[in-house]
Amino acid sequence: MTEQQPWQWDEETWRGHVARVRAGRSLHPASWPGGARVAVALSFDCDHETIALRAGETGPGKLAQGEYGSRVGARRVLRLLERFGAPASFFMPAVSALLHPEEVRDYVAAGHEVAMHGWIHESNALLEPADERDLALRAADTLEKLSGTRPVGIRTPAWDFSDHTLAITREMGLLYDSSLMADDEPYELLADGEPTGVVEIPVEWIRDDVPYLLLEFDGMLRACPPPREVAGIWRDEFDAALDERGLFQLTMHPQVIGHRSRMAALRELLEHIDAQKGVWYATHAQIAQYVLQQDA
Ligand SMILES: [Zn+2]
Repeated sequence: MTEQQPWQWDEETWRGHVARVRAGRSLHPASWPGGARVAVALSFDCDHETIALRAGETGPGKLAQGEYGSRVGARRVLRLLERFGAPASFFMPAVSALLHPEEVRDYVAAGHEVAMHGWIHESNALLEPADERDLALRAADTLEKLSGTRPVGIRTPAWDFSDHTLAITREMGLLYDSSLMADDEPYELLADGEPTGVVEIPVEWIRDDVPYLLLEFDGMLRACPPPREVAGIWRDEFDAALDERGLFQLTMHPQVIGHRSRMAALRELLEHIDAQKGVWYATHAQIAQYVLQQDA
């Protein structure tokens, strides 16, 4: 049988695709802890060398760019977060954590969360379900061994969420996912229409440093906007979240944001956030736990 084209699908087929993983009830709480007006969830995906490795690029040049993320970027990020007393979530591919075990220990020592981000930044959609499951379990074991705590959250590498990711996430008993984009506020994930109890802490390319600030894209060098311009977009996102008494979630990468000129822009953004009353800085895990409690 030849495969049907999308315009030939019957209603049951297209509804089935849409229903596989869907946003359920909103978990936007009536209030944040201590009467805070906004929750600020900063996250850093510590991909480092795995971006090159998973593409099979083993040349020292590309790997050095990744090394910068751990050697320089992550150090600067840690110092900045300490200055603002802001706990954050660090999503680490297991191979990245194995290459930089001291980095994992430093995150834990500073009170940050370490969570899952694949084995070697693999693309889930390209994997057999059994391989995706095996890599996820190995990644969780590795992070547990290095950080001392079993991870409770997952961000799929490059937000590549396969048809099997949610089943694996549920089997592992994870509290939350942070790879999908159906809302600005936390929500519960549905699997084929059924509530899963898994919290989604939604992400967005708008609130990610890579689309704006990754100089090399698809093998081409491109001009990037000034970092302060990018931070201005994020500032507008934060101000609106404050107005809506919602969540401001941000995704960054130590190897991208960790450069001097960019850290200056991030510092200014955090100064703006910190100047507001009623800001709750929390890890993704803390937010997922809180919104579930409020909903109970
Ligand atoms: Zn990543």
